[in-house]
Amino acid sequence: MTDPSGGPAGGAGVTATPVDSGPAEADWAAAVAAVGQLPPDGRVLLICHVNPDGDALGSMLGFGLGLRRLGVRRLQATFPGPPEVPESFRELPGTDLLVPATRAYPDPDLVICFDAASGSRLGELVDRLETAGAALVLDHHASNTRFGGINLVDPHAAATSVVAEELLTRLGVPLDAAIAECLYVALTTDTGSFRFEATTPAVHRLAARLLATGIRPGDISRRIFDTRPFGAVRLFGEVLCRARLEPAAAAGRGLVWTYATLDDLARHDQRPYVLEALIDSVRCTAEADVSCVVKQTRPDEWAVSMRSKGAVDVSAVAVALGGGGHRFAAGFTGRGTVDEVVGRIRAELDGAVIGGDQG
Ligand code: AMP
Ligand code: MN
Ligand code: MN
Repeated sequence: MTDPSGGPAGGAGVTATPVDSGPAEADWAAAVAAVGQLPPDGRVLLICHVNPDGDALGSMLGFGLGLRRLGVRRLQATFPGPPEVPESFRELPGTDLLVPATRAYPDPDLVICFDAASGSRLGELVDRLETAGAALVLDHHASNTRFGGINLVDPHAAATSVVAEELLTRLGVPLDAAIAECLYVALTTDTGSFRFEATTPAVHRLAARLLATGIRPGDISRRIFDTRPFGAVRLFGEVLCRARLEPAAAAGRGLVWTYATLDDLARHDQRPYVLEALIDSVRCTAEADVSCVVKQTRPDEWAVSMRSKGAVDVSAVAVALGGGGHRFAAGFTGRGTVDEVVGRIRAELDGAVIGGDQG
């Protein structure tokens, strides 16, 4: 769930056009105009990335509540795939905006995408980029392919919610507690609760503005990060027990990895999203720079989460294997057996050591 890169730092192997600086004034102006020029009954569709995390949902719902305050009435928020919101996010303000992807406006006047680095992260909703009157992208991945007509992409932003808050300010929407709670969840998710490198003074100043609305950080953090069903606690125990340490991998920087199957989930009666937090228990292994959790999504398909402590650019590994992400937090979809998937990771790791021999 948490993403130790915090602020994507770009780097070797990142796809498409790396963006070094934040949005230009002209981009902000175009975004403000796109919202301001909506017809009176304009339909706005908000989309965040597949398997949404705290930043995806929090930035989307916080921005949606801001649009509602501006008087936008025909407003939907959605994400691709099954319309299941992870338990920990079900009490987020603004979830009443959510509709299943199958019910999303087919041709909205404006589509706004959150925390997605490329159109492929929008799954079956990617066609809205074509059918919508205008497409606005809010994101912070260095690898963002700038797939919107208007792109507010800031690779130095700790979370997409940082970009969302700035756009709300420029639209003249004041923060209220509901908006702030959504943006706070997004900010704490992507900074690992203010632990990762991207935790700048500006991040703390934003957190201060959000807290000043009266939201309760203790309650929010407990719900988002420190609550899981007992079945998930036992499932984590089992999956952590089978973790393997490979000190020689990644040219000696070390790899620790584990996997969870659909059968593991079924035995403990757990939903797949509970596994998102597992990487945080694996990545603390002192003897490995790189950590990896391989999660079965279908008999032959695995969602892979990778983290690095700084010696390895895991986004390079992910991109080479068809995925993406940030330098120190990345992922991809793997096919075949667990051993085949991990074998492919192992093979890419030596070449992804930062400052190492890329040959
Ligand atoms: P996760 O391990 O799921 O928390 O993902 C870490 C980062 O990797 C996220 O910020 C995503 O940007 C990226 N990511 C994960 N899975 C994929 C994928 N299948 N394709 C592209 N990017 C991904
Ligand atoms: Mn995300
Ligand atoms: Mn993010």
